Amino acid sequence: MDLYGSLKKIFGFNQFKGLQEDVVNSILSNQNTFVIMPTGGGKSLCYQLPALMKEGTAIVVSPLIALMKNQVDAIRGISENPGIAHVLNSSLNKTEVNQVKTDIQNGVTKLLYVAPESLIKEEYVEFLRQQKISFVAIDEAHCISEWGHDFRPEYRNLRNIIKQIDNVPIIGLTATATEKVQEDILKTLGMSDANVFKASFNRANLFYEVRPKTKEVEKDIIRFVKQRPGKSGVIYCLSRKKVEEIAQVLQVNGINAVPYHAGFDAKTRARHQDMFLMEECDVVVATIAFGMGIDKPDVRFVIHHDIPKSLESYYQETGRAGRDGGEGHCLTFYSYKDIEKLEKFMANKPVAEQEVGHALLQEVVGYAETSMNRRKYLLHYFGEEFDDVNGPGADMDDNMRNPKKKHEAQDEVVKILSVIKKTNEMYKPKELVNTMIGKENAILKSHKTTEQPFFGIGKDKDEHYWMALIRQILVAGFIRKEIEQYGVVKLTKEGKAFIDAPTSFMMTENHIYETDDDGTI
Ligand code: ADP
Repeated sequence: MDLYGSLKKIFGFNQFKGLQEDVVNSILSNQNTFVIMPTGGGKSLCYQLPALMKEGTAIVVSPLIALMKNQVDAIRGISENPGIAHVLNSSLNKTEVNQVKTDIQNGVTKLLYVAPESLIKEEYVEFLRQQKISFVAIDEAHCISEWGHDFRPEYRNLRNIIKQIDNVPIIGLTATATEKVQEDILKTLGMSDANVFKASFNRANLFYEVRPKTKEVEKDIIRFVKQRPGKSGVIYCLSRKKVEEIAQVLQVNGINAVPYHAGFDAKTRARHQDMFLMEECDVVVATIAFGMGIDKPDVRFVIHHDIPKSLESYYQETGRAGRDGGEGHCLTFYSYKDIEKLEKFMANKPVAEQEVGHALLQEVVGYAETSMNRRKYLLHYFGEEFDDVNGPGADMDDNMRNPKKKHEAQDEVVKILSVIKKTNEMYKPKELVNTMIGKENAILKSHKTTEQPFFGIGKDKDEHYWMALIRQILVAGFIRKEIEQYGVVKLTKEGKAFIDAPTSFMMTENHIYETDDDGTI
């Protein structure tokens, strides 16, 4: 049967979505293939269809047991033979494992889902190398990279295992699109020759907005939700405690909200999730435990009470809005204190992991504080160029609708960079700010900084100004924070050059939102 016939017969679809057809053809012609598509882009079909069409069994490596089960059930639903798809993992008993093996040997099984830790087992490797394998698909391939947001050491060894099984094509699939992660995946899987298919990550119907997080944040949220009566939304918080607090505040204010986090028992979680899906409530207040695999098409807003720890997470979570193509407002409350909180959480992790964590956070800070087109910033992060004048959704963010004021801060940048240099690059931002405004403390006294002629050189501005400027020159690449030294600020090559030959530096003023903001976009 031809490709479209199979698509129709097996999945009931008349058309391929996006790049699916090209991907399927690449796999059918036995080439290594790398697929980067945002969540919901239709990645599963890319390997399921060729697996069902090709001779032999396709091995699908996936980290999430629950999702594997769903997929196997879905595939079984389209066939008369339940042996067409199997999961192989440690929960199977001997009889079940034997059934799986028999089905594979008899050529019945087209898709075999395995967790990476099961695939490593000698017994399975030995068995699989004697079978006809069509290809190996590696789902959530970013788990292979330490630069991804979900690194899993078991993924590192996959290349070797696959080589032992057979010399078959490899298909990597992910929704994480940064250059670094992509390179890592191709290198680690030994497939630099792969055909690469990358779909656009632009979600043109989403409106991106970042507001300063003040003491009024709860009032802001209530006002925002009340302006959208009957609309579905998700509010993400960092902690379970906050989830419960916010849910309660909303309920007291007449908003139909339920809390959701991993601390509730399975029954309560399922009930609250169902209430949301069935529209018995409007709003779910949740930790990131909510959302994996939920697919409600008409979520009209996603609010981040706390900013996520990476732009990947931000993209995933905001991506749950507007899946039907309709309105989707993504509102994030941002305060630098929250970044420091996230940094503190990382303090006990191994240094290498901290380094990655800080770099990811720095991108979040950059995004939150940028005055440029947010969609452009986000897509640039995912390695995609975006035309911020004519591109789809070009005016759909707060910076474009309501531009932030900027002013020339060349002299101030020279001042702060010179102070960093003259204090021998030994201070953290807080000490630097105190030096600028001339505020004494024990550390500054012990290094005799308080006696220096430059102590208090920036007295004409307040501490908030200097802290904001430090963050902006950090994002601009003039300074970096030394992780091993707990955030001590160092000058970069660019920073040193700026002192000698200063150029224009437009500092963005903090966006102050009017309290009578009517919330429309
Ligand atoms: P991903 O794994 O990329 O997040 P999925 O494979 O779960 O995406 O697919 C997302 C949705 O798109 C599913 O509901 C799926 O049924 C649907 N879908 C996939 N391919 C097609 C197609 N060719 N035509 C219509 N719908 C499709």
